[in-house]
Amino acid sequence: MNLIFLGPPGAGKGTHAEVLSKTKNLCHLAAGDILRRNIKEGTSLGMEAKDIMAKGELVPDMLVNSMMFAEIKMLKVKGCEGFILDGYPRTIGQAEELDKFLASEKMTLTAAINFDASEAVVVERLSGRRLCAVDGKIYHVKNMPPKVEGICDCHGQPLVTRKDDQPETIRKRLAVYHESTKPLIEYYARKGILRNVQADGDAPLVQEKIAKLFEKVG
Ligand code: ADP
Repeated sequence: MNLIFLGPPGAGKGTHAEVLSKTKNLCHLAAGDILRRNIKEGTSLGMEAKDIMAKGELVPDMLVNSMMFAEIKMLKVKGCEGFILDGYPRTIGQAEELDKFLASEKMTLTAAINFDASEAVVVERLSGRRLCAVDGKIYHVKNMPPKVEGICDCHGQPLVTRKDDQPETIRKRLAVYHESTKPLIEYYARKGILRNVQADGDAPLVQEKIAKLFEKVG
């Protein structure tokens, strides 16, 4: 099964991709996480992406495409039965290149799941989001707090805020989403593979909706 998770920043794509990838043995390929790993490791891609990401803008299509294609080519080596693309594609140009790449690899997309969340909810989620500095596990100051305030449950380290989760950058990322990424909903609807999930509720509620959807999708 090969899935795309669509939706604005803060819609819960990463959280739910993490769960579903485990239950269905899929590789969770999160474009933002892979880019942040490149920044941490100081690769040339990371150096190009760093300032762009801090501003909440999009990394050029060509760079992100080849990065994601390399990840998809690794699926079999990793023993995955398919993939969840989280945060990719983000532009029509990326989606078209992905189609060509998948056709050349004789692969197809099973579904594009659109996480439909309101602006007020995503702003609240992003501004309260905190991360474990060691493994990137996501917390939220109110909705998913750690056992001890400000401290990661697993590693006992102080939680950190993502650089691009500052109010001004959140606004920028949402504007970029509306302009460049939202048209993908229509793109995948036209292909007949779009599925909508109402994603405003708490994580367990959204989780249930996804599980129901997959009773149908398989
Ligand atoms: P979010 O979905 O919450 O904005 P991500 O971790 O998915 O967070 O992405 C963080 C940043 O990484 C984006 O704002 C953008 O700069 C960059 N990025 C991630 N995915 C892509 C992509 N497909 N194309 C271009 N840039 C991307």
